[in-house]
Amino acid sequence: MIIGVPREVKIDEYRVAMLPVAVEMLTQKGHKVLIESGAGLGSGLADHDYLCAGAEMVATGADVFAQADLIVKVKEPQAAEYEHIRPGQMLFTYFHFAANRTLTDAMVSSGSTCLAYETLRDEKGRLPLLTPMSEVAGRMSIQEGAKYLEKPQMGRGILLGGVPGVAPAHITILGGGIVGANAARIAAGFQADVAILDVDLDRLRYLDDVMPANVNTLYSDRHNILEQIERADLVIGAVLIPGAKAPQLVRAEDLKRMKPGSVIIDVAVDQGGCIETSHPTTHSEPTYVIDEVVHYCVANMPGAVGRTSTFALCNATLPWVLRLAEMGASEVINSTNPLRSAINIHAGKIVHSGVASAFNQAA
Ligand code: NAD
Repeated sequence: MIIGVPREVKIDEYRVAMLPVAVEMLTQKGHKVLIESGAGLGSGLADHDYLCAGAEMVATGADVFAQADLIVKVKEPQAAEYEHIRPGQMLFTYFHFAANRTLTDAMVSSGSTCLAYETLRDEKGRLPLLTPMSEVAGRMSIQEGAKYLEKPQMGRGILLGGVPGVAPAHITILGGGIVGANAARIAAGFQADVAILDVDLDRLRYLDDVMPANVNTLYSDRHNILEQIERADLVIGAVLIPGAKAPQLVRAEDLKRMKPGSVIIDVAVDQGGCIETSHPTTHSEPTYVIDEVVHYCVANMPGAVGRTSTFALCNATLPWVLRLAEMGASEVINSTNPLRSAINIHAGKIVHSGVASAFNQAA
């Protein structure tokens, strides 16, 4: 099979969908791998690295799309890429179709098979291709929070860990899933005083077991949330209700209770955000201030740490790319392989029930 990796063209996107080691493994199995020249540069991977691993370099993304049976990407195809996608071609990438009607219509009419990273469920029911990016965003949220708490960044001039004789920052984390747990671990390492709120008591029990002593767990109800945001120097939004818009746990009027110069990092902004005053921002303009509270709401946080994110994503996607290259779309569609759960659109039809119901159609 011919497998193609185009350079990502979405703004502020520095990741690439394949590492040289994957090229080597695929070519050893008899596949041919085409890489667009410069595709890895944003992640510090040179054309030379891919060539040494056995890839064939092509000059443009259009060349990749024209020749490859399977396209492996990071972000959903952009409008300029739609015309290159052809019937029978497989695309394996993040799509997030339910939030994008134009993309869905374009992929339905392309006749291609679209396999979405975000819906792939493994044998244990987990979403293995979402987890690595939540790990990155969770850890990064504390790094960004530390930066925006600095006075020149409009923050209140607080050092996360304090110093001997001066109290550390108080950090409130709303949601104790992958993002929340990773944020808590990094915040704890900074010696901050941390509270994680969740509605899942089993999850709180687990976090209570594994987290260091400077991380406390609290049930997420309105009273605890208000008490926490009054104390907090930094609030991390990390809530998810799968398939739904995030619940707005902090209302616009609540901001007046927060300390001037405190910071909100709403990681959940890609699902609408769990703070009423959140709206998506970009890495070029990541923050805005409302009621003296700094808001950071970047919807693709991992893109800024492209190298780490590329390695994290590719570690998770590689086994599935290898399986897909062996099986092909027609075998996957009739199988019980977990890859079947990734197929959202096939041969001009939406075949994933979640995506179909978002557009009031039958799968
Ligand atoms: P997860 O499913 O692992 O965790 C979500 C947690 O929220 C769960 O533990 C759940 O019990 C909890 N929760 C649900 N309702 C709650 C409530 N009312 N109060 C408190 N907790 C509640 O999800 P995750 O992987 O940690 O992802 C969290 C969010 O971060 C998602 O919206 C995800 O899309 C987003 N995300 C954003 C970026 C970005 O770049 N901005 C990157 C990765 C992930």
